[in-house]
Amino acid sequence: MAEKLIISISGMRGIIGENLTPAVAAEYGCAFGSYLKMAGSAEGKKLSVCIGTDSRPSGQMLCSSVAAGLCSVGIDVISLGIVPTPSVGVMLKKLGCNGGIIITASHNPIAYNGIKLLTGDAVAPPPESSGKITEIFHKKEFDFAASVDCGKVTFCGDTDETHIAKVLGLVDRDLIGSKGFKVVLDSVNGAGGPITMKLFELLGCDVKGVNTEPTGIFAHTPEPTRENLSGFGKEVLEFGGNIGFAQDPDADRLVIIDENGEYIGEEYTLALAGLYAFSKKQGAKAAVNLSTSRMIDDVAKRYGATVIRTCVGEANVAKAILENDCVIGGEGNGGIIDLRVGPIRDSLVGIALILQLLAESGKTVSQLVSEIGGYCMIKEKFAADKDLADRIMNRAVEIFEGAAVDNRDGYRFDFDDGWVHLRTSNTEPVMRVMAEAREEEAARKYIDTVMDIKDSL
Ligand code: MG
Repeated sequence: MAEKLIISISGMRGIIGENLTPAVAAEYGCAFGSYLKMAGSAEGKKLSVCIGTDSRPSGQMLCSSVAAGLCSVGIDVISLGIVPTPSVGVMLKKLGCNGGIIITASHNPIAYNGIKLLTGDAVAPPPESSGKITEIFHKKEFDFAASVDCGKVTFCGDTDETHIAKVLGLVDRDLIGSKGFKVVLDSVNGAGGPITMKLFELLGCDVKGVNTEPTGIFAHTPEPTRENLSGFGKEVLEFGGNIGFAQDPDADRLVIIDENGEYIGEEYTLALAGLYAFSKKQGAKAAVNLSTSRMIDDVAKRYGATVIRTCVGEANVAKAILENDCVIGGEGNGGIIDLRVGPIRDSLVGIALILQLLAESGKTVSQLVSEIGGYCMIKEKFAADKDLADRIMNRAVEIFEGAAVDNRDGYRFDFDDGWVHLRTSNTEPVMRVMAEAREEEAARKYIDTVMDIKDSL
């Protein structure tokens, strides 16, 4: 069965040549532009939107189509070309745009692409706004401009320099440079290669790039998981690297390989960045989602920092970071947010903070990892419609009696030795179950309990 075009809070995602066509993209551009005109206090000023794409070959086609839609309703478009997702947020602010668009399907296979929307604050539109945009799209209530008022497309080529300058502002360039770090980068032929190689050069690193050409022909399955990066550890070892970094295709996620060529696990990216950020400000705050490892809480305790938990979704984390003036935040999947650069997960920020941590501490990655300590996290998912999901969660509330319960996003049950989080997907009839504990046996026990509940219903 052909998959449906998915329209969610952050935009749309579909399959090129099936449901994500130029016509659909153009009408989505019309809808977003019409919404911006309705929402904005334009006062006669022309509104503008900047657009960046990841490296997928379909990116240019979608960019042109969305741009045509925006121009048709009178919005000026600034095209940024192939850039990381977080770079679009940086440029949106710099150029004073009223909105931003990122053409990316992130870590999904090459057949997919997507159109992600940003408001003028460089965050995803809040639910009521995205609901309105979707309504305009479905009803085709487009506010077309007269011929003389159509928008124009211009190009901006200084994204890399602008973004890199902000990232360099987070760290002591001379200190990092003095260490002569040897680093290896795998950008999976996504958008991150060129800008990240430039960043390493400016930080004085001796760098080896693997899959850094932004061809969009992914050298391996693009999600930066242990299985998909199986050959990367060897590259790090052979180069004698102090550290290896791997990005996803739109370079908002970052994972780390240690100096022994070991994949340390995506949850450590945020724990290490948090360790650095907390060490700079006693009693700081961080915001992370409910599915993120307890490692961040352990690291926070060392410096009297507070960790605020949010519902899953980058927009929820970004909102909490902004509202609570957090020094750092993000998601356990390797997404780091530092507001000094922008409210979007940013692999370049993660790289800079972690190199600074290595430089200041004089420790190796594996030493820092072992000091943080480890947990075992197990993730499962299974088909469940809303009715079954509700029944599973209701039963879990009874069975996990005595646990601390958070039901803002599904149910998270916290115990002394670990936690389990049950939630449904926003885009498909699937229930996700995650459990974490110091010992695998304990984490497995929580997962098995949920699976037993499912089987008993
Ligand atoms: Mg991504």
